Amino acid sequence: MATNGAANGVANGVAHGSGRLTGKNAVITGAAGGIGLETSILFAREGASVLMADISAPALEKAKAKVLTLVPSAKRVETVVCDVSKEAQVQAMVEHVDAWGGLDVIFNNAGIMHARDDDAVNTPEEIWDLTMDINVKGVWYGCKHAVASLRRHGKKKGSIINTASVVALVGSATPQLAYTASKGAVLALSRELAIVHAREGFRVNSLCPAPLNTPLLQDWLGDDAAKRHRREVHFPSGRFGEAVEQAQAVLFLASDESSFVNGHDMVVDGGMTKAYVTPEGPATEAPV
Ligand code: NAD
Repeated sequence: MATNGAANGVANGVAHGSGRLTGKNAVITGAAGGIGLETSILFAREGASVLMADISAPALEKAKAKVLTLVPSAKRVETVVCDVSKEAQVQAMVEHVDAWGGLDVIFNNAGIMHARDDDAVNTPEEIWDLTMDINVKGVWYGCKHAVASLRRHGKKKGSIINTASVVALVGSATPQLAYTASKGAVLALSRELAIVHAREGFRVNSLCPAPLNTPLLQDWLGDDAAKRHRREVHFPSGRFGEAVEQAQAVLFLASDESSFVNGHDMVVDGGMTKAYVTPEGPATEAPV
């Protein structure tokens, strides 16, 4: 399947950045895989001290080893096991960074999409509750303790980035009511906090990723003609995004380069949510 240079990203061995996060302390949740891991690598490469948090201890240690292998010059990379749906654990995660001088950046990225999530009738209540607890309350707890920490340490600026999804913007034909509703809440919550905390110098933005290049998606939208057509219908660029392409957007939002970007929904989707597809689908060849 088609990829481009960006897809190779830091995992291709670029160990040194240009110091875009030098002096910043960053907390990343869901850091053991996917977007969170790629962001940890980029943040470390750009000079941040990074606290990687995840619910899975073994995956977290593997992920940390990967960061340190790819970025041997990393200033500081530590881990903490944290279930973001448990407020006391989120508080402890944020307070872990107190000894470093307090956080400057938090990326509330951990989230789940449950296999039993379904439509209006068939979504089990416990799956609704679980999804909301992790995807929404987890983000709120992260914001809550990040703001408390920024205040406690007298910071004049801070960047909070929350992972939503394109389903918060366009819905999903595959029924996943709780997930879609939870990501809509993340978007609204982020906008609200962006306004409320702006005068303190704290920015809150959300990230809306399109579905990423995962084995599951490859199977659904793989490489035979029918599946290729289906992919082209969904993705104007004819390919999926990569986790590192999400991480690059997060890096911008975390850095001072985005100092006047606040309450923004950063949609990283290759144009997916802008595409109107005619019943015939897109042209198979690019127009000349
Ligand atoms: P991933 O599954 O690769 O990683 C998510 C990480 O979160 C895992 O390491 C997991 O252990 C951790 N996690 C799960 N529950 C947790 C909890 N309660 N507390 C702490 N950590 C927990 O996921 P990803 O694809 O990188 O997704 C990251 C975020 O991006 C999620 O919020 C997801 O909803 C969102 N997203 C993903 C896609 C996609 O296609 N992958 C698309 C849009 C949005």
